[in-house]
Amino acid sequence: PPVVSLKKINIRYGNHHAVRDVSLDIARGEVVAMVGPSGAGKSTLLRAINMLETPSSGTLHVGDFTFSLDHRLSQKELLALRRSTGMVFQQFNLFPHMTVEKNISLPQMRVLGRSRAEADKVTARLLERVHLADKAKAYPARLSGGQQQRIAIARALALDPKVMLFDEPTSALDPELGLDVLEVMRELAADGMTMIVVTHEIAFAAEVADRVIVMADGEIIEQGPPDQVIRNP
Ligand code: ADP
Ligand code: ADP
Repeated sequence: PPVVSLKKINIRYGNHHAVRDVSLDIARGEVVAMVGPSGAGKSTLLRAINMLETPSSGTLHVGDFTFSLDHRLSQKELLALRRSTGMVFQQFNLFPHMTVEKNISLPQMRVLGRSRAEADKVTARLLERVHLADKAKAYPARLSGGQQQRIAIARALALDPKVMLFDEPTSALDPELGLDVLEVMRELAADGMTMIVVTHEIAFAAEVADRVIVMADGEIIEQGPPDQVIRNP
């Protein structure tokens, strides 16, 4: 079964129909790059997958859960959904008053009920994975944007998501800092993580994605393997 399945998702902002009847299945381990012009509805669709946006209709399946979006989700359903999806934003959204280590371990204790010892162990492993083991005791403001974004990735991974959602993860970064983030994402993809990445990084999409989805005016207008979808500029 697909890890993520969207069926006839519609999202409206007042009169504006931002996502139109989008259906989409994503397989375990699949890496999907979502591209298309500004305003196409990419970010809105991504945010609907963990209910940061509320669709007006449709069905959403993530991991073991199916959510009908035509009615309000219960608090329990919402928690299950948020737990199954790891979101990484353009702005890193770390807690500024907490060390890097605390940023990653606290959600594990709060959301998964892990003990401090367990959470610290997972945190140490994740910091290795994003190549920032030496920054455990630092505060976010002391880190570069690229380092902060890698911490945000580690924090999302700490909840063992079924799928990682990336919303323009390198757009706020200088190109050379973005490279470190893309490298970590490349490694995640190679490890078999299921990923949906909204991005302008066409080279990354071409190289790492299994499938490229092109959105325009709220619809998927084209999709397929990168070599079929991405025309060399
Ligand atoms: P903008 O800055 O408004 O996004 P661009 O011209 O840079 O305008 O890109 C428009 C969209 O088209 C981008 O979101 C990008 O993902 C996509 N895109 C750019 N180049 C290609 C390409 N060679 N093949 C497919 N899609 C592309
Ligand atoms: P993309 O990620 O492809 O650039 P978005 O999903 O951000 O596109 O936006 C899709 C459309 O929905 C755009 O026309 C945008 O102006 C509109 N939109 C996005 N967020 C809101 C909002 N909070 N309120 C009203 N309109 C919005």
